[in-house]
Amino acid sequence: MKARTVLTLGFVLLLALAPWLVGSYGQTLLDYIGLATIVVLGLVLLTGVGGLTSFGQAAFVGMGAYTTAYLSTVAGWSPWWGLVAALVLVTAAALVLGWVTLRMSGHYLPLSTLAWGLSIYLVFGNVQAIGGQTGLSGIAPIGVLGWQLTTPRQYHYLIWGVVLLIVWTVHNMLDSREGRAMRALKGGALMAEAMGIHTTRFKTILFVLAAQYACVSGWLYAHMQGFVNPTPFSLGQGIEYLFMGVVGGIGDLWGAVLGSSLYSLLRQWLSDLLPQLLGRSGSFEGLAFGILMIVILQRAPEGLWSHLRALGRRWQAAAAPLQAPHAPQLGERARPAAGDVVLQVRELSKRFGGLVANNAISFEVRAGEVLALIGPNGAGKSTLFNCISAVDRASAGQVSFLGRSIERSDSRAVAAMGLSRTFQHVRLLPRMSVLDNVALGAHLRGHHSFVASAWRLDRAQEASIQATAWRQLERCGLAEHAQQPAGSLPLGLQRVVEIARALATDPCLLLLDEPAAGLRYLEKRKLAQLLEQLREQGLAILLVEHDLDFVMGLADRVVAMDFGEKIAEGTPREVQKHPAVIEAYLGGVDEPAAPAQAMEQAV
Ligand code: ADP
Ligand code: MG
Repeated sequence: MKARTVLTLGFVLLLALAPWLVGSYGQTLLDYIGLATIVVLGLVLLTGVGGLTSFGQAAFVGMGAYTTAYLSTVAGWSPWWGLVAALVLVTAAALVLGWVTLRMSGHYLPLSTLAWGLSIYLVFGNVQAIGGQTGLSGIAPIGVLGWQLTTPRQYHYLIWGVVLLIVWTVHNMLDSREGRAMRALKGGALMAEAMGIHTTRFKTILFVLAAQYACVSGWLYAHMQGFVNPTPFSLGQGIEYLFMGVVGGIGDLWGAVLGSSLYSLLRQWLSDLLPQLLGRSGSFEGLAFGILMIVILQRAPEGLWSHLRALGRRWQAAAAPLQAPHAPQLGERARPAAGDVVLQVRELSKRFGGLVANNAISFEVRAGEVLALIGPNGAGKSTLFNCISAVDRASAGQVSFLGRSIERSDSRAVAAMGLSRTFQHVRLLPRMSVLDNVALGAHLRGHHSFVASAWRLDRAQEASIQATAWRQLERCGLAEHAQQPAGSLPLGLQRVVEIARALATDPCLLLLDEPAAGLRYLEKRKLAQLLEQLREQGLAILLVEHDLDFVMGLADRVVAMDFGEKIAEGTPREVQKHPAVIEAYLGGVDEPAAPAQAMEQAV
């Protein structure tokens, strides 16, 4: 059995025995820790996975608590119907809030959650129908299979059962196709969208899930306490939840458990201990606690869990190298026949303010052909790539891909049609394994949703995705690196990982932006062989490259650009001799004796 499994089972066993191990005071504290953990698990998803910060989770806890409290006391609903109603309400609120704020970038989301947290708290305190500052009391306890849960000890299994259920389902979810897409959000929308990932959808899912977990915590709280008032749902509490997550380690599910436990225990311990030490009570514990938190954050900015994990790794034997997964490959799309026009660019222009980065560029690429785009730095090659792959929108002109006009499409739609690309500035997820990075490319080839994967109903498909990603890694000569974090590879090889990821999308057209940059001679040879192989299989390849030896040996045709204009097009030999090309590279030498060498020197 793996060390991880043993530890998890040990923890579950300890939780099962806890009611016999702790006194009634300890039991109440443990219940509160469980309730906080449920909220912090949502923050692990939202902040740790999605990179979105929320200070307003306490407001969702409050909405859950107040909805069930109101329905239980005023309308006489059963707690379970109260839960359903609370989840519906919170989901609707999170959808509206998410819809308004998740499209904005930077600090708008945290700011809007502050505003939201503050205003909902004011509503709780000022609406008389829900008791104003006094709140609501006489909330019925939860009944499970005819059993009424009335004491903290009886709530223990329900609360910690919910915690474990969330840990398990979220763990499964993150280890799947849609989970990878969620983890890709931190790498920026540009790359994710180019792999066909609907980033706004996944941000919304994370936001709603986090709100729902907070709601469940509030529901449990209201029925366990038997009363609610506004105090526990203040903005300050919302900030504390975030704090717990950050202290424990917002990037890991167990970090949430550790963070909320440690935070609550320390806070309790200090407020018991300090008044005894100082001989009087006051706000010293708050101050001491604040200082302690700052020290922890300064010493362990990634949270305490990452330190524990690093300790654990020392004891663990090195993981066995991954074997090629035995699962059927994903199905492939029908490709155009060799010689068919795959991409047609007509009079494409792109302006940035007054700067004309591309001026009326036209060319086409056929299946089974490598077309190289060359030109000095700043000629407009990457801009052209961005316009073709719909990462950027052209100012004028047409782009048609497989006979369909795509200049108005978004990059997701273009990716779905079979156009894939790599980036000049590598865009991998550095902490994710090489294999997972490549599997991200296969996103659009699977269909199971995060709900199915939370319950492990996606395993056959996931195995095929892994097998397909592995196959592409092998093809690119990277299988031995499959398990390493992508960021640990040399930059040249990271570019090749990007090619493997693009291949995992099952493309008809590959756009490669300087794929050979940073590669050594032998690695370049291998890359050239791979591209030749892909060409034989009928792929269309458009590549930007500075290494002219590489281009001249490989490309069927070359398009040369300078200052945003197409200055020449033809076979490598023709372009090499073209006066405008020589001019562009040499800046007007009168008698270029050996253009190829001169060009290389200039580049
Ligand atoms: P290349 O890839 O051929 O080196 P680029 O396409 O990156 O060239 O750049 C072409 C020109 O467009 C450069 O002058 C560059 O400064 C400008 N440019 C590129 N992207 C932007 C942008 N987002 N905003 C403004 N100018 C840009
Ligand atoms: Mg460029």
